[in-house]
Amino acid sequence: MDRIEEFVDERQQAWCIHCSRWLAGLETNEDHVPTKSFLSKPRPHNLPSVTICRECNNGFSRDEQYAVTFLSCVLSGTTEPDRQQNASAARALAKSARFRAMIDRAKTEYQTLGGETRVVWQPDVERINRVIIKNARGHAYFEYGEPLMETPSHVWAAPLGTMSASDHADFESVNNCQELAALPEVGSRMMTRVFTGQDLDDGWVVVQDGAYRYAVHQTGVLRVRSVWWEYLATEVKW
Ligand SMILES: [Zn+2]
Repeated sequence: MDRIEEFVDERQQAWCIHCSRWLAGLETNEDHVPTKSFLSKPRPHNLPSVTICRECNNGFSRDEQYAVTFLSCVLSGTTEPDRQQNASAARALAKSARFRAMIDRAKTEYQTLGGETRVVWQPDVERINRVIIKNARGHAYFEYGEPLMETPSHVWAAPLGTMSASDHADFESVNNCQELAALPEVGSRMMTRVFTGQDLDDGWVVVQDGAYRYAVHQTGVLRVRSVWWEYLATEVKW
């Protein structure tokens, strides 16, 4: 990705965007949003990142590992480490039999009336939601310099393939009211993207093709959408 230097970087960021504590005096980390394990190698340079407190950073890493691994298993149809496309998921499954068993329990096979075997994966929704919200806060801060301390009013996720054609089209068209809506604040990274088109595809910031993209939009409510592995669509609103 291109490096876009903006005021968000120079302005003193006083608090952790996740727990609202003052960063002064706390141990901090540069937190990549999304976590690098979502992406495949070679990873793009200049990945979006936000400074957060180390405690939050550590707290999220288990949920992120779960989300990446769960999704990888759904897409490969198995918890077999050797059959994962995602390297981080393969490592986590090979390393811990307990973790693998936990994800295995999320899988239910059943027979249709026609005798076909179908598989349903039931995720730990709370854990997935924590990752969705964490990423959305990070994207909003990285693009707009907007810290969102409150609980979101809406958190949603669904596989793209389960959406109707019109819902899918609505979800994808993040750009259609950009002209009418207030433009992003001058000096925000999103403003630079809107004018230069850097890493921007129809309103979506593409972190890595096929792996992760997101869109932040502000019209009264702040809305963050993301697509993981061109499989899972997510949306958070404040
Ligand atoms: Zn924190």
